[in-house]
Amino acid sequence: MSDVRNVIIIGSGPAGYTAALYTARASLKPLVFEGAVTAGGALMNTTEVENFPGFRDGIMGPELMDNMRAQAERFGAELVPDDVVSVDLTGEIKTVTDTAGTVHRAKAVIVATGSQHRKLGLPNEDAFTGRGVSWCATCDGFFFKDQDIAVVGGGDTAMEEATFLSRFAKSVTVIHRRDTLRASKAMQERAFADPKITFIWDSEVAEIQGDQKLSGLKLRNVKTGEFSDLAVTGLFIAIGHDPRTELFKGQLELDEEGYLKVDSPSTRTNIPGVFGAGDVVDHTYRQAITAAGTGCAAALDAERYLAAVA
Ligand code: FAD
Repeated sequence: MSDVRNVIIIGSGPAGYTAALYTARASLKPLVFEGAVTAGGALMNTTEVENFPGFRDGIMGPELMDNMRAQAERFGAELVPDDVVSVDLTGEIKTVTDTAGTVHRAKAVIVATGSQHRKLGLPNEDAFTGRGVSWCATCDGFFFKDQDIAVVGGGDTAMEEATFLSRFAKSVTVIHRRDTLRASKAMQERAFADPKITFIWDSEVAEIQGDQKLSGLKLRNVKTGEFSDLAVTGLFIAIGHDPRTELFKGQLELDEEGYLKVDSPSTRTNIPGVFGAGDVVDHTYRQAITAAGTGCAAALDAERYLAAVA
């Protein structure tokens, strides 16, 4: 059995690496599980990030994450490119098990496992990400100035994305599988009143078309089975996110959508010594900078907790 560490961090996005940087600089020697395949988190799947402060000319997502990783490592964070497969967080000493079955022990745990955006399930969806397909209007809307774009979804997020995008775009077409929206009445009214937004009902995206970049969509009417073409250079997929909280079910309190509940504005979960940060907690902002901010807060909360139990 391993020694008892001060803190184990699960996750390697902006939240996890920021928590690692702060706890490492506080001499807590954090052990960071980065994930077996996706070390670096969601920004590893994107191209240019223009809204992370400090980079006047923007920075590529993977480069930003490499920098965060190296900065945490420089101060002594121990980084492990592996998944955590089970946890027991209930006792004073928490245990975390990796894929080899090794059990790691710590007095505090920071959960920063992020969330996964729901996909349409089309074969070239990932290949076109950053080439016309986007998951975040706040992040990428600016790149689509004066272009014709589509938004898929019918909930609050989709309406918010569509109304936000109409500021930049020439036109925004909302594609929705049903003939009514799930979004709140206020959000619907705003979208319906926007002259740049039109709706295609009862339809789904059957094909993403283009060579190097997105040039259009093939749509299928789910009621008639008929196909039609839509010429767009941007596609925003807004059909929801799934927080990665499967591991913690039955131990940590989750909200009705499965996000980790924290005692806001702190990052404390329902279990003393366990803290949550980033998109696994946040279903409102979902930005790299907000994830980094709560990663910092979780590190400071963990530091204070460790000082109190020492
Ligand atoms: P994530 O970045 O999702 O990282 C979570 C990490 O935890 C992952 O590496 C995962 O492998 C790991 N993990 C999960 N479970 C386990 C486990 N059991 N064991 C070990 N590790 C585990 N935001 C911006 O501010 N600007 C942008 O331009 C921007 N562009 C984006 C483009 C795309 C394509 C996407 C998808 C998102 C974009 N975002 C952008 C949003 C931003 O990436 C997220 O808000 C941010 O990455 C969330 O950080 P996080 O640390 O909470 O989680």
